[in-house]
Amino acid sequence: MFDKILIANRGEIALRVIRACREMGIRSVAVHSTADADAMHVRMADEAICIGPAPSVESYLNMAAIVSACEITGAQAIHPGYGFLSENANFVQMLEDHDITFIGPRAEHIRMMGDKITAKETAKALGIPVVPGSEGGVPDVATAKKVAGGMGYPVIIKATAGGGGRGMKVAKSEAELETAFRTARSEAKAAFGNDEVYIEKYLQKPRHIEIQVFGDGRGNAVHLGERDCSLQRRHQKVFEEAPGPCITPEQRAEIGAICANAVAKMQYAGAGTIEFLFEDGQFFFIEMNTRLQVEHPVTEGIFGVDLVREQIMVASGNYLSFRQEDLEIRGHAIEVRLNAEKLPNFTPSPGKVNTFHAPGGLGVRMDSALYSGYRIPPYYDSLIGKLIVHGRDRPEALARLKRALGELIIDGIDTSVPLFFALLENEDILTGNYNIHWLEKFLANELG
Ligand code: ADP
Repeated sequence: MFDKILIANRGEIALRVIRACREMGIRSVAVHSTADADAMHVRMADEAICIGPAPSVESYLNMAAIVSACEITGAQAIHPGYGFLSENANFVQMLEDHDITFIGPRAEHIRMMGDKITAKETAKALGIPVVPGSEGGVPDVATAKKVAGGMGYPVIIKATAGGGGRGMKVAKSEAELETAFRTARSEAKAAFGNDEVYIEKYLQKPRHIEIQVFGDGRGNAVHLGERDCSLQRRHQKVFEEAPGPCITPEQRAEIGAICANAVAKMQYAGAGTIEFLFEDGQFFFIEMNTRLQVEHPVTEGIFGVDLVREQIMVASGNYLSFRQEDLEIRGHAIEVRLNAEKLPNFTPSPGKVNTFHAPGGLGVRMDSALYSGYRIPPYYDSLIGKLIVHGRDRPEALARLKRALGELIIDGIDTSVPLFFALLENEDILTGNYNIHWLEKFLANELG
């Protein structure tokens, strides 16, 4: 087992990893930019090292500085959190050259899933159902028209190197195709430096259902059920729950087994998420994330397992600590993402937090790096915390969420909290009757 782990991240996820380390008796090293000198993860870790100035490219994405921080502190492994370097195969390779363990999958799996066309082909070959679409990349408008015409409109054009909901454009008819194709390509080029795109059938009313998987890299793998992350704004998740309100135990067992078998066959190591769109009782693969997800706590809530601990155990060479038959769902969990944003337009609202008071009580978990007097820097993601609740069933979890949101105080900045109060008054949310387009419509009608 490692004595010391460096966390190549900031904010709530850095705290999440530090907490797991502390419970395991492992020392933790925080890295930070100059803008984060006063951040909570710096205070909470056993050691901290400044790795560069405020812009992420010069600090949290600065691979050489992070490797140096490892060498200086003697950390034997790096946990990347999510975002930043968590899905960067070159970083993993660099760590290998320095004999530092990456707490995550092997570079080849990150590379394979980071290219969405290869990911889809791999998934298909492993028996995972995929969204109907083009065979590989689509090089020009003429080919795009041929593919889209053959499969029928609407279609969605997506970046092969895509992520974070960028480089995606919908075309409802052939008239819209050319513009959509060109915009998707230029967005992809600007965001990822790679303008390759592919085409998929655009599903009209799917839910976003993702399966949590875990492998030990030696052919053992399990699934930990699904999360429903359909409530999205601009393809970004804002509210996640587990189990999915519309998934039957039979559907879970079937898709779960397909995913676990695929992961076992790949000899995949660590945590992963296989994302699907779910429509009319059918699952369609869209992508695999080769890392811990923001929304992992809802899965931890219903299974009572520590996924970060398991990541560290597997990375240090252990077999999985649970078998499929040990994993049993208990109750219902919901997470809401708290952003420093001003409604109704979700404009970033960094600045000083005068008072922060976290809710508590039975079944309430607050993962946040805020503290009273903290100044949220303007350079990073607007996520300032996650409120996760667990109840014996969905109605209890919903009631608990409302109660906990009522106790939460974040004073001095604007946050997305009012959105969740509004959602908790809505009949569709209370009955679980929503799909991936629901929130955008709600925002246009109710908050617009
Ligand atoms: P990213 O990696 O950028 O997050 P994904 O492929 O995971 O991209 O898709 C993000 C979201 O975009 C999905 O959760 C869904 O809301 C929407 N989406 C993606 N593909 C389709 C599709 N074929 N039909 C309808 N919506 C889609």
